[in-house]
Amino acid sequence: MSIQPLNRPEKYYGPDFNAMEKQDPEIAAVVISELERQRNKLQLIASENFTSSAVLAAMGSTLSNKYAEGYPGKRYYGGCEEVDKVEAIGIERAKKLFGAEHANLQPHSGASANVAVYLAFAKPGDTVLAMSLPHGGHLTHGAKVNFSGKWFNIVSYGVRQSDELIDYDQLRDLALEHKPKMICSGATAYPSLIDFEKVRKICDEVGAIMWVDAAHFIGLVAGKAIPSPVPYADVVSFTTHKVLRGPRGGMILSKAAHAAAIDKAVFPGMQGGPIMSAIAGKAIALQECMSDSYKTYAKQVIENCQALAKGLVDLGLRAVSGGTQTHLALIDIRSTGVTGKVADELCGLAGISLNKNAIPFDPQTPAVTSGIRVGSAATTTQGMGTAQMKQIAEFIVSAIKSGADQDKLAKIKSQVAELCAKFPVYPEPK
Ligand SMILES: *Cc1c(COP(=O)(O)O)cnc(C)c1O
Repeated sequence: MSIQPLNRPEKYYGPDFNAMEKQDPEIAAVVISELERQRNKLQLIASENFTSSAVLAAMGSTLSNKYAEGYPGKRYYGGCEEVDKVEAIGIERAKKLFGAEHANLQPHSGASANVAVYLAFAKPGDTVLAMSLPHGGHLTHGAKVNFSGKWFNIVSYGVRQSDELIDYDQLRDLALEHKPKMICSGATAYPSLIDFEKVRKICDEVGAIMWVDAAHFIGLVAGKAIPSPVPYADVVSFTTHKVLRGPRGGMILSKAAHAAAIDKAVFPGMQGGPIMSAIAGKAIALQECMSDSYKTYAKQVIENCQALAKGLVDLGLRAVSGGTQTHLALIDIRSTGVTGKVADELCGLAGISLNKNAIPFDPQTPAVTSGIRVGSAATTTQGMGTAQMKQIAEFIVSAIKSGADQDKLAKIKSQVAELCAKFPVYPEPK
């Protein structure tokens, strides 16, 4: 048995795309066409972004080969001295960036991070109060088809019909009535800020753990563009690949008092070996978030999303809750007579990637919906500004109102490609 020589034996440290192309042209072709898709179309899915080449390189690195069950200095396998460094650096960066007492970088995803939170603080059958799914809550906040809905007694709070903002009076009433073990704040489709101070007070009143699922907005917190939940919450879980712009994965921050419970819940509670290549990517992304340019980025993301929402409103659509204070906007498109499902399809044909989304008190089913969700994280990374957002709003409304006319859709698609070409994603080296 001999180990095949690597292409760069002297200095092999990362992905070799040429080797992939030679060995498996079928898969390599998909990787190339996906890059072309990301380059030539508009990425408005609110949970997506373009991570840096440094983060991509970490994810494709040989760190992927290492098993490292346990935590730095306390592993169940030998040979962890190098990967220990990466995880320790990442933990320190997370604590510093967010002012957190404890950080766990091992969750494989946002949903996995949430499994660990339930495991750390609740037992099957316990009551947890979380944002209602039709009002923007996540699957892991109690969907019937998800472990959360199957194993826990989830009570849901929602937004008020009048202003589509979280109804904190209802939240408090439900907390007093049901005495939940945990109260979860955070959502996948809530465009406004959350009043963490108010939630903390309610948690204290009923003795509940304050859990913030910050998956969507943690990048804006990292860039100091919106208030942080970290000083208030017992535990904050999130994804690292949304506005935060890191690798696909999850992370948990907590008070020191909960550190052991969180670490035990992640491993051995619900995962085996951590993905060390992803943890290296998380460490790199956290470093990027500390830069001034990232702070500028986070502010621009919000400005852009506000411009995009305003553009859509100026063209006759309605922004849920009157607009956005974050990177995402929820748009009620009923005035067009087109459903969310059809709008999603029409925009797709015009080279615009976004998603249909239920609006609060939606008369349509979740598979059809009356709304779309748009986000500005990816286009802002590309370097687009408010002028481009106005243009994008016009593309979206033209596509929705195209009546599925192929010529009209093709024309928008070429205009979209023209715009994208001005803001190249992963540009070719000159
Ligand atoms: C995206 C998201 C998650 C899940 O993240 P995955 O990495 O897709 O598992 C969890 N909670 C909220 C609020 C989210 O927006």
